Amino acid sequence: MFLLCTECAGPVDEGVLVCGRCKVKESLKPGLPATINIGSDSYPAFVTELSKSGKTVYVRRANYRRIDNNGFSENQEYEITPSDTGPVYPVYLNKNGVWKVKGMSASTVVFGIAQAYQDPHF
Ligand SMILES: [Zn+2]
Repeated sequence: MFLLCTECAGPVDEGVLVCGRCKVKESLKPGLPATINIGSDSYPAFVTELSKSGKTVYVRRANYRRIDNNGFSENQEYEITPSDTGPVYPVYLNKNGVWKVKGMSASTVVFGIAQAYQDPHF
């Protein structure tokens, strides 16, 4: 028996109706946290709006402030607060199923969590 996503007819695991890709799409709405990864750094953001077609998701960079005292370390803790003035980036799903900032092929965007991280090695 073939198990197919009810949304896109892609493959799904047993007992699952929609694939991970479609599940993310269903959950996309203004206010949803997101993380923009560029190289080994991460920038927190929140969804502001979706295009009518749903193909473009606009995310706005959030404010973040480091609150640990670990200095030059990978062990970092941040306080993240939504911003009304941060830059807004259009995000799209590429054909490999990876969300990316338009015009920044090296970026990846993850939805559901807003995280900050600064690689101490660069
Ligand atoms: Zn699907």
